[in-house]
Amino acid sequence: MPEHNTLLAELGLDVPLHDELSQATERSFQRTIGSQQNRPKAMAYFDGVLHGAHGGRIAELVEARKAGRKVVGTFCVYVPEEVVMAVDAIPIALCGGSQFTVPFAEKTFPRDICPLVKSTLGMAFSKTCPYGPILDMMVGETTCDVKKKTWEILADPTFHVMEVPQKKEAIDIELWRRSVREFRDKTEEITGRKVEPGKLAASIKVMNAKRRALQRLGELRRSDPPPISGLDAVAVMQGALNDEPVRFTEHLNILNSELEQRVAAGISPFAKSAKRVMMSGCPSVMGNWKVHHLVESSGAAIVADETCTGSRYFENLVDETATDLDGQLSALADRYLKVNCSCFTPNFERLDAVKRMAGESAVDGVVQYVLQYCHTYNVEAMRVEGALKGIGKPSLKIVTDYSEEDTGQLRTRIEAFVEQLG
Ligand code: SF4
Ligand code: SF4
Repeated sequence: MPEHNTLLAELGLDVPLHDELSQATERSFQRTIGSQQNRPKAMAYFDGVLHGAHGGRIAELVEARKAGRKVVGTFCVYVPEEVVMAVDAIPIALCGGSQFTVPFAEKTFPRDICPLVKSTLGMAFSKTCPYGPILDMMVGETTCDVKKKTWEILADPTFHVMEVPQKKEAIDIELWRRSVREFRDKTEEITGRKVEPGKLAASIKVMNAKRRALQRLGELRRSDPPPISGLDAVAVMQGALNDEPVRFTEHLNILNSELEQRVAAGISPFAKSAKRVMMSGCPSVMGNWKVHHLVESSGAAIVADETCTGSRYFENLVDETATDLDGQLSALADRYLKVNCSCFTPNFERLDAVKRMAGESAVDGVVQYVLQYCHTYNVEAMRVEGALKGIGKPSLKIVTDYSEEDTGQLRTRIEAFVEQLG
């Protein structure tokens, strides 16, 4: 019996079904991340984070709750984690990346919504999500339509929805700043603790340190040849959304030091001739390794991710100069509004970011990763393709879900794309 099954049973999970989910995830892990050669030694820690997401990390959170701390579940990188941490609560990303739970959502929800939302809901409906029973609050946001409408169905007094604007003009900035303040009020209400400037300054420092370490990883990936695969880099990012932030940063700094040595010694998981590719588009949350694996097993090296499990999570630090609460909350709001989600209109900032990153990482081409039924990234793909064409970079749009059904067809398209690069 797996080590944490007693705990999962106590939390009310369907343990046999959870075992099946774990086995499916493990098979997927072994087929993708686990099948790679010449991985950095420090990746062992991040493999452990992925494996512990439904075990050791849950035990840790249960202990923290016994000690009086609250746990806050989030679905988007727009939620300012610093505010949660300032009231000594723990933010946890809840998005699911596994096909296994999708059919459970499809029993009640429409089939034609994005797999990320279906996988997340399916976890809850099938009683295989260990986070549900230990959450004191969930935070949704008004980004895309499927999420907005899903929150209405899940609504309960502990479910808070942040108003994310659709544009970035003065009135929208004001709205978003108010939304961040409301979120502060809600976290205070749930925890019974006050967001004090000293505590908020400390949590801003913790998150900025984490962002700096992720930025360093991003820079190291630009080396030629890259010292780490894109699949491993995305595994690190998936861990970033789940792990305790100070510990995560410590281990990422260890990985970064190893990568510096690998760069100096010219060690890479890829042949020198491997084509350099950037991923751009939808996030690849934990459990979702399909397209990264397909790209890299087709002879390309992924050297950058313009996604929410990539640069959007860590670029732009929070300004640390404000010392009063009002100034700190505004600084936080301003940093988070720079996340270029495709839900914004217009979204020129994302086009600029795609072009800048493609240049900085000297990529030969870009794979646009679009989850099925994600209309905003799908439609915006035309503009991204146009922007990239303008700087002479070819791109390929992949629209897919979490199932394995299309892997043969995707492999053919990706291999043909990689072949024509450079
Ligand atoms: S893609 Fe948009 S909605 Fe999804 S996590 Fe990123 S910012 Fe949030
Ligand atoms: S991937 Fe697209 S459709 Fe799915 S939750 Fe994110 S923004 Fe919405």
